[in-house]
Amino acid sequence: MSKERILIGLGIIGYIGAVFFVISLARVSPAQEPAKYVPAPPTKLLCFNSKTEELRESDSNLGCTTEEASLGGAPIEHGDVRPNGLNPTFAIRFQAAQAAAKKLGYRLQITSGFRSQNLQARLFADAVKKYGSEEEASKWVLPRDISHHPWGTAIDVNYPGDKVAVKWLEENGSTFGICRVYENEWWHFEPVIAPGGTCPKMAANALSSLESSPTGAEDLN
Ligand SMILES: [Zn+2]
Repeated sequence: MSKERILIGLGIIGYIGAVFFVISLARVSPAQEPAKYVPAPPTKLLCFNSKTEELRESDSNLGCTTEEASLGGAPIEHGDVRPNGLNPTFAIRFQAAQAAAKKLGYRLQITSGFRSQNLQARLFADAVKKYGSEEEASKWVLPRDISHHPWGTAIDVNYPGDKVAVKWLEENGSTFGICRVYENEWWHFEPVIAPGGTCPKMAANALSSLESSPTGAEDLN
C-alpha cells in the first residue's frame, strides 16, 4: 500500500469517528433531563405595617408588601461595620412588639438603644468608678468594644420605670424575635432568635455571658 493510500484511509477512519462522536453527543443531550425548578419550602415570615400597626403572617416565598417591613427570619447578627443607629430589622421587631403591647394596655419605650462607642466608654468608666473594679462594672455595663448597644443590637426598655409592661415583653418577645438576656437586667433585650423561636436561657449577667464566649472574655482584659 502506498503512503498516500494509508493517509487517505486514516483520514476516512478519522472522519467516520468524528461523525459518530457528534451523533453520540446529539443523542445524549436530549436524553438529559433539564434541571427541574424546585422552589424552596416556604418558611414563616412576619410583616409589620408601621402606619396601620398591623402584624401579618406571610412566608419567605411571598415576602412582605412595599408598605410593610419584614421582622426577618433569623437571629440578628452584628454587621462588619459599626452602625450609626439601631439595627433597622430590630427596630421593626420592637415596633411590632410595642404595637401588640399597646393593644393590651402596656406601654413599651426604648430608654436606651443605640449608643456610640464614645458614650459606651463613658458609661463604662462611670460604672468602674461606681462599682470599684472593671470586673464588677462589667456585670452592669460592658466596655465599648464588647457591649451590643454600639452594634445597635441591644435595647433597654422602660428603665427605670414600668416593670410590669416589660414583663409582658419578656414573656411574649419571642414572637417578635426579642429576648431578655440577663438575669440581673430586667430591662435589657436583644434580637438573638428568629421571630417565633425560643429564647435561650438567660446569663446571670453581662460578665458571665462573656465567660461562656472565649473571645469575649479575652477582649475584656
Ligand atoms: Zn442594656
